[in-house]
Amino acid sequence: SDHALQYPSAPDAINWSVHYPAFPARPPDFADVGCGFGGLLIQLAPLFPDTLMLGMEIRVQVSQYVQDRISALRVTSQPDTAPFQNVSVVRANAMKFLPNYFAKQSLSALFFLFPDPHFKSRKHKARIISPTLLAEYAYVLRPGGIVYTITDVKDLHDWMRTHLTAFPLFEPIDEDTLRSEGKGPIIDAVYTSTEEGKKVERNGGQKWLACFRRVDVL
Ligand code: SAM
Repeated sequence: SDHALQYPSAPDAINWSVHYPAFPARPPDFADVGCGFGGLLIQLAPLFPDTLMLGMEIRVQVSQYVQDRISALRVTSQPDTAPFQNVSVVRANAMKFLPNYFAKQSLSALFFLFPDPHFKSRKHKARIISPTLLAEYAYVLRPGGIVYTITDVKDLHDWMRTHLTAFPLFEPIDEDTLRSEGKGPIIDAVYTSTEEGKKVERNGGQKWLACFRRVDVL
């Protein structure tokens, strides 16, 4: 449970310089919610070296693994290019404490890659995309920011797409449009970079992508 889980009282209380030593006091731009073993972060970090990325992972050992992986990459990479300085991870329950980490309209992307499906309908409220949590996701995303979701569970895809589409602050945006806006490398990483995505591929499973733009309200 959350007893031992440390979390910041507010985004202002976080010393981001500890996470991104080469970018003093800058908060993250991208958040990977339930990042697992960190495949997305590791693939995207060198592609967008000026974008700060944070993984959130609730499992202690898994978040520790990601932290060790990032530390190792920082050491073995060329010091003058300082790669992987723009990526970090926190052990956190993103469903409870997201607004403790991210200030209002501070993020330009939120990722939900292969989230736990919680099949039984009495467990649907445990899903990471839910009507209540959508308000928090809209709060931390800046207008124009993108929510990326992907899953191999058709029922979960339908669920996420239905709820995000119905929410007034999000509008669906198709893959081709995102690619035409230069987000092709991000889409590619969403499909193939994570451990879960690779597992689905090995098993010959299908993947459903659904992306949404945070709209501005006038
Ligand atoms: N996104 C990764 C990937 O594609 O490989 C991991 C997918 S895995 C099926 C779902 C991950 O979400 C698990 O690592 C799990 O521990 C994490 N998770 C579940 N609930 C969470 C929560 N409330 N906050 C943070 N992480 C969570």
